[in-house]
Amino acid sequence: MTHHTPDGLPEHIRHFIDGEFVDSLDGATFDVLTPLTNETYTQAASGSAADIDRAVAAAKRAFDEGPWPKMVARDRWRILNKIADAVEAQDARLAELETFDTGLPISQALGQARRAAENFRFFADLIVAQTDDTFRVPGKQLNYVHRKPVGVAGLITPWNTPFMLESWKLAPALAAGCTVVLKPAEFTPLSASLWAEIFREAGVPDGVFNLVNGFGETAGDALVKHPDVRLISFTGETTTGQTIFANAAPHLKGLSMELGGKSPAIVFADADLDAAIDSTLFGVFSLNGERCTAGSRILVERSIYDEFVERYAARARSIVVGDPHDKKTEVGPLVHPEHYAKVMSYVELGKDEGRLVAGGGRPDGVGAGNYVAPTVFVDVAPDARIFQEEIFGPVVCITPFDTDAEALALANAVKYGLAAYLWTTDLERAHEFAHGIEAGMVWLNSHNVRDLRTPFGGVKASGLGQEGGYRSLDFYSEQQAVHISLGPVHTPRFGASV
Ligand code: NAD
Repeated sequence: MTHHTPDGLPEHIRHFIDGEFVDSLDGATFDVLTPLTNETYTQAASGSAADIDRAVAAAKRAFDEGPWPKMVARDRWRILNKIADAVEAQDARLAELETFDTGLPISQALGQARRAAENFRFFADLIVAQTDDTFRVPGKQLNYVHRKPVGVAGLITPWNTPFMLESWKLAPALAAGCTVVLKPAEFTPLSASLWAEIFREAGVPDGVFNLVNGFGETAGDALVKHPDVRLISFTGETTTGQTIFANAAPHLKGLSMELGGKSPAIVFADADLDAAIDSTLFGVFSLNGERCTAGSRILVERSIYDEFVERYAARARSIVVGDPHDKKTEVGPLVHPEHYAKVMSYVELGKDEGRLVAGGGRPDGVGAGNYVAPTVFVDVAPDARIFQEEIFGPVVCITPFDTDAEALALANAVKYGLAAYLWTTDLERAHEFAHGIEAGMVWLNSHNVRDLRTPFGGVKASGLGQEGGYRSLDFYSEQQAVHISLGPVHTPRFGASV
């Protein structure tokens, strides 16, 4: 099988600190692979605590002495929109690089690039439209909220949709006036280095955006533990989130945690079955199944179970798996051989825990990359590990239910609580069920399409705190209360009685 290799790949991916591309102070690098062949195509600088120190010092200087935190919102709006223009102008190139580095199908990577641009426009608009509270106590006091950026923010991101997820943190952090140090995922450092040029050309002052590549246990760890980093916004696995939570505790840092998921899609007998099948296929097999909000457990009412399973499995078997640069490809290779091994171990486990009706291993006719055929297990019991644990690949389990109460119990029977999808034409049931589900986000008769104003975040083991719209700006802002007397001050006169 032939693969597309983008022109102009960097020979070396470097950090970006205080407006300059730099190597690690100790010269350390790590190999970067393409999941299309698992061959090393470049080296990236591997950051240590010393590189993080350097980046945090630049970010702190830019925060304490530079113009960015104090700039009027309209001026920041102009720069943020220039960033969005630049992202849009190179969306095809971005998608090409992202596909090569992650294995995401090109059509889906293109959507991610556009969404990244939209994040910058959205938060730019939000800061110019922003209002804050003012309270008047007649004759006594006026109180108002003085909003200011918190300081240096550490942004730690995963590999599944790297550029888009970075934009999701960069846009509100910069819009709020913070300065940042970004530590992207080590599997996929390629697209992050594009931010440096984009920001520089848009007029972001030196030191406001800093990028340190490297491993979580070294560069990420040092960022979390750095005393001058006031906030950590993290997206990644639940277990990593727990480690970060503990490491940030001695410094009492602000934390935003977007973690793993094992989201249910519940299909009732009265659902529009064609729409539900389209959506539940897309919900778990798009982004190669490497999607935090994947509907990876499908619960189906027993009266339509056999028909659903038959139709679903037939479609899953027809999904086009192959070179992610081909526009027709629907599922590409998984990001890295380590992740491939993990997903494959769940595929083998599933053969004992459920009945395999589609996929179950490598598809035929693909090359050396990390390809997994879309895999469907049915009749999966709720105590099965493939029902309980996040697989983060193109693997789904299907379980029947008889009553609404049973469906709700099954939906809530895992430690995660990120998203849920409900398919029913009964409005009353839809709302009642949605309110009963332990999930941060529920989609009724819809797949994962999200307006940027809405809250995003999980409950239980899926996260802490909510982002989205003003919630993201609030995370990166202090809201200082200022109180002014409007008349004589009446104070108990201590020491005045004798
Ligand atoms: P991961 O937790 O392995 O790594 C995420 C990031 O954390 C990487 O940059 C990594 O280098 C860094 N890291 C690792 N250990 C660290 C440590 N001790 N200190 C500081 N940083 C550390 O996650 P991943 O495998 O890259 O991503 C997949 C996971 O992300 C899945 O669980 C998925 O559900 C989750 N995810 C969640 C959302 C959401 O919004 N809830 C979105 C996308 C992905």
